[in-house]
Amino acid sequence: MLASWPSDDHRSGRRNIVAKDYCVYHADKAANWNCLGCGTLLCQGCFPASPESARQLYCTLCSGNMHFLGVANSMPPFWSQMPRFFAYPLKSNGLMFLVLLAVLTMASGRLLHAHGAVAAVLIFMIVALGIRQGLRVIEFCSQGRSKPPGIAELFDGNSTAFKMLGLAIAYGVMIGIAGRFGMPGIAGMVGLSALLPASIMLLAIHGSLRDALDPIQVIQLAARTGWSYLGLILVLMVTAQGPQQALGLIPAATLVRLKENSPEVLMALLVASSAYFNMVMGSMMGYLLFQHHQDLGIRPDAEHRVAPADNRALEMARAAILVRESRYPDALRHMAGMVADYPGDLPVLEYHHKLLCASGADPDRVQLHTERYLKALFDGQRKNRMTGVLEAACRVVPHYKPKSIALRRALAEEYFLQRQFKPAIGLIGMLHKEAPTSKELPAAYYLLARIYSEGLRDDGKALMILDFLLKHCPGHALSGDIENYRKVIQSLGQPGQAVA
Ligand SMILES: [Zn+2]
Ligand SMILES: [Zn+2]
Repeated sequence: MLASWPSDDHRSGRRNIVAKDYCVYHADKAANWNCLGCGTLLCQGCFPASPESARQLYCTLCSGNMHFLGVANSMPPFWSQMPRFFAYPLKSNGLMFLVLLAVLTMASGRLLHAHGAVAAVLIFMIVALGIRQGLRVIEFCSQGRSKPPGIAELFDGNSTAFKMLGLAIAYGVMIGIAGRFGMPGIAGMVGLSALLPASIMLLAIHGSLRDALDPIQVIQLAARTGWSYLGLILVLMVTAQGPQQALGLIPAATLVRLKENSPEVLMALLVASSAYFNMVMGSMMGYLLFQHHQDLGIRPDAEHRVAPADNRALEMARAAILVRESRYPDALRHMAGMVADYPGDLPVLEYHHKLLCASGADPDRVQLHTERYLKALFDGQRKNRMTGVLEAACRVVPHYKPKSIALRRALAEEYFLQRQFKPAIGLIGMLHKEAPTSKELPAAYYLLARIYSEGLRDDGKALMILDFLLKHCPGHALSGDIENYRKVIQSLGQPGQAVA
């Protein structure tokens, strides 16, 4: 178990972005669950429960309360994702958007003198598209989607561009007012600027200006994301300088020439690089939101949604934990309970049977449950697994045979297919003494005759068995087959007579 810092973070439900907890059984898997009683940390595979479970989930080892660590713990830390944020706008949808903005900017530059009104409309479109796209990027990333929004997805009927304008005006007014109050006012301005990203994020995920300006929601968002939020602000401040820095990369002479000859190209470059850094910042904000989506009530994208609660899987996982802790009697007891709850379930029966045979402590129970498990395999058309189950039981109860003649015949047939004739004969060879009145006897002995003839090349024994059947079970449904088979053996055994 890796120590986390700060250690009591899980209890408060807050997580930091640097430290990470790992599963006690999987050193390379981030933990999703933590027992508040004994501190055991488990990955989703070891504790496949749903965080939306209505019941309080308990720890298998100590019965303490299990606490969901949230997706944030299993997600890579914010800092490690920097290259991903900067590569995000370069995916096809993002590139297409950048090209669209650049083309619109060039067009508006060309039209500026001749058709001022058209150019103004274009410029308005560019600004509105830029804002709408930035907000949708935040929204998409907050749901864990990896692809940027397509251009068609920007026209979803929500006039967030105007709301964003409203948001900017509201913040401008508040900052303006704060500016009149000297030193405390400056502190207020800094605080307000720090809360602006939270408002933008709220606008992106809720699409409403009221939510974005609700001081309780804004402060709650910043508080819930904690230190990550402060880190985000620092990164955003640096990233916001991006377009300027990008322009600085162009040699001064080229810049002057562009300004004189084709200012619209320069404008297009500036707009596209602003949009690029907008997307980078949007993906950063979205990632932070996604890390905390459970706390913030954001519905994740389908591929990130936690699977619905599967009680059976969780109970199976509990047994596996008990085995890992070498608590075999507890594991066995747990599995016996599961067999009662899921009587026809093959994986449950299989695991129970394995544990039972491995412990070897209770031969009576082994016999009882082997019969039950074999029957389930037989009914479920999983006959090829039957011989392995029988052999496991025989290691605890030597010479064990199922009571059911139908099961024995099925097992013998499997052994026959595997060309293991001795164990096949061992299962059904003495049925005329063990179960002379069984309805299964003719079919079993017909199989026995085939094993002797086709497997052991002992036609004499095979004929003896067939004769016994014809004598003791006259008029049986299989009589025709038995007689035919008898004729075949005879003809093949005596080629001279077969021709005649
Ligand atoms: Zn515990
Ligand atoms: Zn694990």
